[in-house]
Amino acid sequence: MKPQEALSPASKGSTNEALWDSLQRAIRSRMKPEQFETWFRRAALASIDGEVVRIAVQNTFSRDWLRTYYAEALAESVREVLHETRRVEVTVDPELSLQAAPVPAAPQAQVSRGPLATAPTPAGAPAGADRTLAREAHAIGSARTSEGARGLLATSDVGLNPKYTFDNFVVGPCNRFAHAAALGSAEAPGKAYNPFFLHGSVGLGKTHLLQSLCWAILDRAPRARILFLSCETFVNHFINSLENGDIAKFRNKYRNVDVLVVDDIHLLANKERTQEEFFHTFNTLYQSGKQIVLSSDSPPKDIPSLQERLVSRFKWGLVTEVEPPCFETRMAILKRKSRERGRELTDEIASLLAERIDSNIRELEGAVTKLLGFAGVSGLPISADLAREALRELFHARRGQPSMEDILTLVTEHFGVKLSDLQSKKRTNAIAYPRQVAMYLARQITRHSLEGIGGFFGGRDHSTVIYAVEKIQTLHDQDPATRALLDGFLGRLQAPHA
Ligand code: ADP
Ligand code: MG
Repeated sequence: MKPQEALSPASKGSTNEALWDSLQRAIRSRMKPEQFETWFRRAALASIDGEVVRIAVQNTFSRDWLRTYYAEALAESVREVLHETRRVEVTVDPELSLQAAPVPAAPQAQVSRGPLATAPTPAGAPAGADRTLAREAHAIGSARTSEGARGLLATSDVGLNPKYTFDNFVVGPCNRFAHAAALGSAEAPGKAYNPFFLHGSVGLGKTHLLQSLCWAILDRAPRARILFLSCETFVNHFINSLENGDIAKFRNKYRNVDVLVVDDIHLLANKERTQEEFFHTFNTLYQSGKQIVLSSDSPPKDIPSLQERLVSRFKWGLVTEVEPPCFETRMAILKRKSRERGRELTDEIASLLAERIDSNIRELEGAVTKLLGFAGVSGLPISADLAREALRELFHARRGQPSMEDILTLVTEHFGVKLSDLQSKKRTNAIAYPRQVAMYLARQITRHSLEGIGGFFGGRDHSTVIYAVEKIQTLHDQDPATRALLDGFLGRLQAPHA
């Protein structure tokens, strides 16, 4: 199939169509054919004005991928075609998946079933060779097809991100269990936990863990038939298939895999027919012992209008949560992300950032990128001043929510104890009481879990935190002096900061 024939630009007038044709040619000239096939074949020109050229792709994964890896190619292509610089934005238009349907290459044709299966794998070749091959095949998302290879390997139409591996995943109290469960599922697919249901709010590493699981399975069994996709793709593909009357093909694709991984399954909310279909997909796979892995922004019971039978099935295996990272984990992530980009962060700088970004790991990553970019451009060493300069908004605007560090500072200052004492094993009243107060305050005003809070105090477990919170709550309720003290703390912590 020639790529040109597969293009389906949004019809926004012939001028735009011609422009999009030229843009696509320019884009295509900047990459390998399979990259163009994977990322740009179904893209469309969404809009163009004097300032911005907007390019639409079918899902958020493609959007993020384009933003990360193809920003430059896009900017250059626009400059080449328009003879001037414009900002290029990438947006999501789920309808693109629908538009792609009538084209001979339905989404299925994007399944990378080529390289792995067709590449001759000499008997006795080192396992590593296969693994590398597998990584390349998945990462590039090659569109090479081979009928002989059908069914041998199925991945999503977007490929796996080579960076999302267990090796690159920082483990802390917030995600230890989820990490272990993902490892377990990868080691014994279909046996350890089925389904494996991972939930947590955005930017906490769900997609990263799910893809790590896929990579780990591929490492052991490079020919495993893994289907990784976002729920959005499942929904779109299902709608497509209904419209085109090839539901049998759809079912064949989703029910003939060893591992089905659906990211963001909460997007099934309020989609009756797709839920129905997914129910049958689930049953078929489950009954034949195939591994099902799901991620969601909320636990099964909280997904709006999710059919009860799906809720109960999602709970059959293991349901686990990734929580916001505690301070130490944030430090470790910052350092790791920086090291991955070739620079080391000192403890001082890492803690400066970790204090201010306390929920979302994607934001931690963004801060590192910004800081290193700033240091690179300015040629200055990474100092606290440079960090303040580079991340100005972090240091000024975002002081609304009190952080764990605010609480610890307040409590250590008031009681005249050291942070290391609070984190030590000491249980004298002079130390235990301030520690319990700090735990109580953390429970009241931060979003950290019990385990997360325990992590700030030398890794104490959640029952210790529960005990502390209950004890201080009782004092608060029964003793006016304690109540005044605690309310004073809360008032100061929640007062707007400078
Ligand atoms: P989610 O799917 O939960 O929204 P992602 O998996 O997309 O979150 O994670 C957001 C970003 O943060 C990704 O770049 C991911 O690599 C990174 N990330 C998340 N958790 C970790 C972790 N524990 N260690 C290293 N990187 C992480
Ligand atoms: Mg995700």
